[in-house]
Amino acid sequence: MPETPGTPGPAAYAAPRVLLRDALVIDTEPHPHARPHTDVLVENGTITAVGPDLPADGAEVVDARDRIVLPGFVDTHRHVWQTPLRAIAVDSDLGGYLTTVLGGLGPRMRPADLHAANLAGALECLDAGITTVQDFSHALYTPEHADAALDGLHEAGVRAVFGYGYPVFAADARHTKDVRAAHERHTARGGDGLVSLALAPHGPSYSPMEDVLEDWRLARELGMRIAVHVGAGPVAERPVAALDDAGLLGPDTLYVHGNSLPDDELRRIADSGGAMSVAPAVEASMGHGAPMAGRLRAAGVTTGLGVDVVTTVAGDMFSLMRAALTTAHVAGGPRLTAADVLRMATLDGAAALGLADTVGSLRPGKRADLLLLRADAVNLTGFHDPVGAVVTAAHPGNIDTVLVAGRPVKHGGTLLHPGLSGALAAVRETAARLAAA
Ligand SMILES: [Zn+2]
Repeated sequence: MPETPGTPGPAAYAAPRVLLRDALVIDTEPHPHARPHTDVLVENGTITAVGPDLPADGAEVVDARDRIVLPGFVDTHRHVWQTPLRAIAVDSDLGGYLTTVLGGLGPRMRPADLHAANLAGALECLDAGITTVQDFSHALYTPEHADAALDGLHEAGVRAVFGYGYPVFAADARHTKDVRAAHERHTARGGDGLVSLALAPHGPSYSPMEDVLEDWRLARELGMRIAVHVGAGPVAERPVAALDDAGLLGPDTLYVHGNSLPDDELRRIADSGGAMSVAPAVEASMGHGAPMAGRLRAAGVTTGLGVDVVTTVAGDMFSLMRAALTTAHVAGGPRLTAADVLRMATLDGAAALGLADTVGSLRPGKRADLLLLRADAVNLTGFHDPVGAVVTAAHPGNIDTVLVAGRPVKHGGTLLHPGLSGALAAVRETAARLAAA
């Protein structure tokens, strides 16, 4: 196939071999660095070569001059079901959020609402270049809620780790048999392999140790990773120490927030190979405690970033990276660089979800979850440090193309999903219903 100038349409990506030609490539492995005039070869959805002047060899060639190519972002903690509750708790502290959102509105979410929320929320992720998301889904009041939430993720085409969570403030809604049944249905479904199942239990901060033991055993029996909110809670003051004492720490566990954890508990996480998800924008806004990223780095804990809740903050990774960069060192520990933060948003986030061999960098052999940013956008013009520019100056409107496993989900700055307008209408409907007292 001859090389043709100009940017081809999204159909170009259907070719079995696609060559992104002459981009400014930012890879994140081993550490974020920029490579000007570099090509990326994608074969059947997998990155197979990165370098200058790769032979086209019959590949469909995409002119990527004026494009910054980088790995898709990984959001390691997000309650996607809250998409129809956007900006409902901007001025709330944590207590207000818990009462209004989890206590008041969560129980009013029906399965159809969860479907709408997860489809539109996942499309919001893709629009912002978040190609992988851990959905911490803790409004699963019935098995139908869980199926609806999972359907939304599948339909969106996002790569997701679905954290099966128990509703908060509903002691009678914790049913391990529902988790087993959901796991069976998920396994039987097969599919494109983009969505995996994890467990998102209440954990030792908020539930008795007998429940914790049962949840951790269940997750490990079924091969599900674990994601858990941790902090000095009403049940355990030192949740990580409590897990350690019970022999439950492990590399399959992602700990969330943890702003109140002392350094010895952070070290226990590091020693066990576990990882942490911090939500710097939400934690600063709602008052969870001092920013964690600097302390986590000092303790050697693999750390990813999480939007957490769009009730209170923006749902994109650029604003999250900026929050991390500007707040990380406030509570002590080393100052983070833009490269550190970009790594948290990509490779470290992938590692935190157990996906470091699949996504998070441009290493050949990984799936082609990629962004093409418009380097010629007015807010990026004249930059010196490409990594610094992406972290401090870029926004979702700069994203021209998003690929998930080589498949374009956004192209020419527009989401390609055929059900987009219906998904947004459904979310508006749910939002209006929840707003009506
Ligand atoms: Zn959370």
